[in-house]
Amino acid sequence: MLLTPGPLTTSKTVKENMLADHGTWDDDYKELTEWVRHELVAIANASQKEYTAILMQGSGSFGVEATLGTAIPKQNATLLIAENGAYGERMVQMADYLNIAHVVLKVPETEPVTRELVATALEAHPEITHFAVVHCETTTGILNPIETILPELQKHNIVTIVDAMSSFGGVPIDLTTLQADYLITSSNKCIQGVPGFSIVLAKRATLETTQYQARSLSLDLYEQYRTFEDDNGKWRFTSPTHVMYAFAQALRELAVEGGITVRFRRYQTNEQRIREGMLDMGYKVVIEEAVQSPIITSFLYPTDDFDFHDFYEYLKDRGFIIHPGKVSRVNSFRIGNIGAITKTDIDRLLQVVADYTTEELHPARA
Ligand SMILES: *Cc1c(COP(=O)(O)O)cnc(C)c1O
Repeated sequence: MLLTPGPLTTSKTVKENMLADHGTWDDDYKELTEWVRHELVAIANASQKEYTAILMQGSGSFGVEATLGTAIPKQNATLLIAENGAYGERMVQMADYLNIAHVVLKVPETEPVTRELVATALEAHPEITHFAVVHCETTTGILNPIETILPELQKHNIVTIVDAMSSFGGVPIDLTTLQADYLITSSNKCIQGVPGFSIVLAKRATLETTQYQARSLSLDLYEQYRTFEDDNGKWRFTSPTHVMYAFAQALRELAVEGGITVRFRRYQTNEQRIREGMLDMGYKVVIEEAVQSPIITSFLYPTDDFDFHDFYEYLKDRGFIIHPGKVSRVNSFRIGNIGAITKTDIDRLLQVVADYTTEELHPARA
């Protein structure tokens, strides 16, 4: 069982949908692709006329890189990147690689990006035309308040890009209200599919101004969009067919569960149960509860000589995979709350952690 921020634990039926082979030219496959694109716009509460979903081969980072590399003109444009963790930092690296003029708004990893910080950066840099931020910074599990940040940018007609990789599908996002120009996620996060492609929800009017802007042939978001649109769901270049069938099943299962709001509550309950169970055992969290997302929780090493590798192997032997920490200044590990996991799974996890804590960390007390 994966207690990680993606790939995550998927249902048996999602996996079973990968047992047949499919041709990419086939009409059934193209129809499935169109249905998936349509459904993604619908669950973002956006209108099909205003928004579109573009699928891009590769992991989530490929979708972010395709968006940054296509959305920002080569001249007379500057990107402001809000960074409070590893994924914000990855966007800065992409901007460096792609030669995109950019300004970095650096915020401590344990604090959220705020509207006030963004407003101050805009005042200092009137040249800014585009803005990128991570919604759930999976580094810590912090949730940046995009609903209050984006209106500040829209007042200045700044194009907005949201990395909602680890939140979309698990945290309600209403694009009709939010009006983000680009919002990015992937097949293997909260929609609970398997890895293989990223997803960009884009405002058509914005995207349609980006022809010939891309800095990469394969990651040309505009051309990818045109091929889907002009060829009734035909992907540009070879697509991950099995992953698509699994993903379509994952979307059906999201609807059966009751949609994003119901899934959000399940994740919140998971998060609470894990956090409270760990706190009861004496573990401490890295970030404040007020900005904690229901996606993943970071815990401090319980002792100075805590051996993460040993803890990891102990949990793995008993059926659970967790994630190392990613916060730079403190020693931490992370437990993911997303995926096809239930209360029973969590109770079993907490029992295993309790056993480890008494046997390995406090052997004298055992
Ligand atoms: C998972 C994730 C990504 C993408 O990472 P990949 O390893 O390329 O899939 C990007 N941003 C955030 C916030 C993520 O959680």
